[in-house]
Amino acid sequence: MTVVACLGGGQLGRMLALAGIPLGLQFRFLDPSAEACAGEVGALLVGSFDDEELLDRLADGAAVVTYEFENVSVAAAQRVGAVPGSRALEEGQDRLREKELFKRLGIPTARFGSLEETGLPAIVKSRRLGYDGKGQRVARSAEPLAEDELAEELVSFARELSLIAVRGRDGEVAFYPLAENVHRDGILQVSRAPAAAGADDVAQGYGRRLLEELDYVGVLALELFEVDGELLANEFAPRVHNSGHWTIDGAVTSQFENHLRAILGWPLGSTAVVAPSAMVNLVGSIPAIEQLLALSGAHVHLYGKEPRPGRKVGHVTFVGASEETVAEAVRLATS
Ligand code: AMP
Repeated sequence: MTVVACLGGGQLGRMLALAGIPLGLQFRFLDPSAEACAGEVGALLVGSFDDEELLDRLADGAAVVTYEFENVSVAAAQRVGAVPGSRALEEGQDRLREKELFKRLGIPTARFGSLEETGLPAIVKSRRLGYDGKGQRVARSAEPLAEDELAEELVSFARELSLIAVRGRDGEVAFYPLAENVHRDGILQVSRAPAAAGADDVAQGYGRRLLEELDYVGVLALELFEVDGELLANEFAPRVHNSGHWTIDGAVTSQFENHLRAILGWPLGSTAVVAPSAMVNLVGSIPAIEQLLALSGAHVHLYGKEPRPGRKVGHVTFVGASEETVAEAVRLATS
């Protein structure tokens, strides 16, 4: 049996397993929580990502170790020889380093640095451990920044887009079409793909530079702002991504399967779209299953997590569905 081990046992790990089990794979996860929802689809080791003995048990006999959480320590990723490598973690865990990497690679970003450099208003983010808009505030007047804070020009974007890219061990690269993302309270609410009139070629050029610079293997997500018809990179995630969940139902090969194919050195699968798709996140609460299933064409994915405010507990995908149906799903998800 081929075992894939994973640092983190949340819904991303769970969906990796749901994609990999039909390919004959078995899964093993390490997570600090005994309730980690990937535990339903694989073996779960419970403990700290910094527990060396547990890390060794996680990696023992596994064909490959990956991660589904980008804030695992570089030391932990190195100890288990994780794929993608620790370089992507190092570059991505510090927003300043990440922005400087974009700059070096000629990938445009909003202005960043001190408030003098960005101008006002600016968005102030903590350099480390920020996600889903956490640890962010808007500065409208000059104020001191803490040591670990970074200011960014507050751009008024027309829309937010993301590119899901995958690179195999042999350097083969593939891209899903750009997704258009709508956030609510800093949390992704809806992704639609392919994005209408998205500058896919430009985004793919940026994605390719990043993958090659990091000598990356696996799936990577690049989050972009579209401002006056131009793309600005916001951040990248060295893992499968919420804005790529539509690929489970709406693409020939899902992002989860392609991540596994990549890290195992297997041929990548087609990233072609079956039909235009929309994904609606379920955040904080789960509507009655009957109501979700009554939506025409709904593909329901629940993560087996206890609902709590702001927590992602599932998503629903529609392939080739009408905007009315998607709007109805959003209404159900937010009522
Ligand atoms: P982040 O944590 O960087 O992914 O930011 C979370 C959300 O805040 C983004 O999805 C945007 O909606 C918004 N945001 C982040 N950075 C900026 C910026 N420089 N200008 C305007 N909005 C931003």
